[in-house]
Amino acid sequence: NPFARARYLLSAHTARQLPVEGGREVAFAGRSNAGKSSALNAICQQNALARVSKTPGRTQQLVYFDLPPFADIYLVDLPGYGYAKVPKEMQEHWQAFIADYFETRRSLSGLVVVMDIRHPLKEYDQQMLGYAVRRGIPAHVLLTKADKLSRGAAGNVLLQVRRDLAAMFGDAVSVQVFSGESKQGVDEARSVLHGWLEL
Ligand code: GDP
Repeated sequence: NPFARARYLLSAHTARQLPVEGGREVAFAGRSNAGKSSALNAICQQNALARVSKTPGRTQQLVYFDLPPFADIYLVDLPGYGYAKVPKEMQEHWQAFIADYFETRRSLSGLVVVMDIRHPLKEYDQQMLGYAVRRGIPAHVLLTKADKLSRGAAGNVLLQVRRDLAAMFGDAVSVQVFSGESKQGVDEARSVLHGWLEL
């Protein structure tokens, strides 16, 4: 598992702080509390990898992890959205930064959107997917916290979300069931990242 070697590289507050273009990176997006940090930790088999991005007051940044020995392959933890306590101007600044990132970042090779399986496809989730799809960047949805539902109920949500994604985005977005807790779906998620990053 090449992701087990992931390690914190840097936090970018502005576009100028992003690593030089030229490699490949996969961005992780999701509503605050959806389970994004837990998903990153499970994929990378580490308990506290994504914790740095959660330091209170420091959530508004792009957190880069590299994957030694690769010099220019990254996982990127985008700021969680939908958190009401962020001041309005900061939210607008971030909306602009994120929109610009999606429009211009050439290294961006794929987007993972993490959603709580009990609350899938909210407005901002759709917006993130739209950014990627418009650029022709593939996207993948993790319906996480699947351990909170019965197998049958999780399967039903998966089918419904798959139908909704197909209606909105054609075949540009794939989806799977996931749990950072039980580790269900971790291998499937890794193989998607593997393909995008050409590891
Ligand atoms: P983030 O804000 O999206 O990074 O969310 P976190 O990964 O910090 O998770 C938010 C809360 O949901 C924490 O209390 C986690 O323990 C819990 N959580 C995350 N993933 C799962 C999961 O797969 N199953 C369950 N049962 N709880 C989870």
